[in-house]
Amino acid sequence: MTTEAPNATDVRNYVAGAWQTPAVDHIDTTDPATGELLGRVPLSDARAVDHAVQAARAALPGWRATSPLQRARAVFALRQKLVDHRDELARLVTQDMGKTLDDAFAEVGRGIESVENACGTPNLLKGQNIEGVASGVDVEMVRQPVGVVAAITPFNFPAMIPLWFLPYAIACGNTFILKPSEQDPLTSVRIFELLDEIEEIPAGVVNLVHGAHDAVNALLDHPDVDAISFVGSAKTGRYIYERSAALGKRVQALGGAKNAMVVMPEADVELTLQGVLSSAFGAAGQRCLAGSLLVLVGQRADQDRWLDTIVSAAAKLKVGAGSDPATDVCPLVSPAARERVEREVQAALEGGARLVLDGRRGGGSAGAELGPTVLDDVDADSRVATEELFGPVLAVLRAPDLESAISLVNTGRYGNASSIFTSSGAAARAYRYGIEAGMVGVNIGVAAPVAWFPFAGWKDSFDGDLHANGDDAVEFYTRKKVLTSRWS
Ligand code: NAD
Repeated sequence: MTTEAPNATDVRNYVAGAWQTPAVDHIDTTDPATGELLGRVPLSDARAVDHAVQAARAALPGWRATSPLQRARAVFALRQKLVDHRDELARLVTQDMGKTLDDAFAEVGRGIESVENACGTPNLLKGQNIEGVASGVDVEMVRQPVGVVAAITPFNFPAMIPLWFLPYAIACGNTFILKPSEQDPLTSVRIFELLDEIEEIPAGVVNLVHGAHDAVNALLDHPDVDAISFVGSAKTGRYIYERSAALGKRVQALGGAKNAMVVMPEADVELTLQGVLSSAFGAAGQRCLAGSLLVLVGQRADQDRWLDTIVSAAAKLKVGAGSDPATDVCPLVSPAARERVEREVQAALEGGARLVLDGRRGGGSAGAELGPTVLDDVDADSRVATEELFGPVLAVLRAPDLESAISLVNTGRYGNASSIFTSSGAAARAYRYGIEAGMVGVNIGVAAPVAWFPFAGWKDSFDGDLHANGDDAVEFYTRKKVLTSRWS
């Protein structure tokens, strides 16, 4: 492996239990709130990726032979490290990605829950058996690790999403490679520094490779990588799914979203405001579960009343740095992201949408801020109503009744999450039954399943079969082997 002399701001790969600076091109990573340079991120090439894959492959036989209990103890140790460093990690997430400290603290907490659930993996590794299927013939099913597995993760949850995969992968006896987002890789570096301190995890079991497209392609194409977990945009997810599956790899690809929030006329005002505002504008709309489509149901007067209530409350949200405790809406991940979202808002306006709340403010001091923005009278087929902008922008559609609201939402190509706000059990039940989405909220704006349930969407929001987290994670990270035997 060619390495270069490290620079103070170099973000390093972690391979075979050692920190490395590959001799490749680098890009800068910056604090979204201040624009301050945080580090130089190596764009690992096929050679650097191969080094990590070889390390993971070499560690596999020993790790596979380590007892499930010992492997679970390694995951318990990770849990303790994360708990001990929760505040520090949350501050790092805020600096790295931009979200508010409260949000970052909650994110790290969600990551810890995933690790806690993975501590119970030995119980889920148990197989099945049946005796006497024919005279003296017994059948037994055992689960074995898939092998070397890789996760490719997005920028918006730099702590939580890697923790959806790493603990289950290693608890099941696989060895693991993480390729985090090149936009905010420092959180994963810190998590790997904590992993490095855990004696129960031998060198090569967990590896960290930074980079962008070339690093991803090298992982997808590498014959010694057996499974790929991906979280990111729908377009990249489809590409990753197709390229990995064509090479016979096991793959799960969690993609983007256009999540609708349906508000019934009689919904509770407090619950609805809380749910809609935090979903649409929290983390500046940069969540895969963010509601970016508001469907107001009922008579025009009811719809207008709800729109006024939501817009008045959204106008009061404070936009600013995630490190400021008064901030409600953090900056976007970069000035480029803010500019892209503003171009989409402009295109919607040119397409006839009406701006009822304008959050454009020239980007703020570091160029990445955009306030809550609400667009009414949008065309149901327009980009703003059908595609994910990944910013604090809420598009409004209207429907006369619940049935037409459900049909309207179901015409969309995505199916990640969807929420209804209502005081009617019958309406909630009809919504739950009819809506085409993998994660559904009733009077909840961000319907994120807790760690012991599977996490993924439907339709173009997901490619694959087995979801992330929960029992599906153990299913994904193991192969079933069936033994049929006769001794007499
Ligand atoms: P992204 O697709 O741009 O990047 C995700 C990862 O893929 C990164 O590691 C990146 O380096 C890599 N990548 C990007 N383009 C690539 C290409 N052409 N070839 C190879 N690799 C490539 O996503 P992002 O902007 O980092 O994250 C935001 C997206 O992630 C949103 O669409 C959001 O909805 C989605 N997301 C989905 C979920 C979910 O559970 N479904 C969760 C979080 C985020």
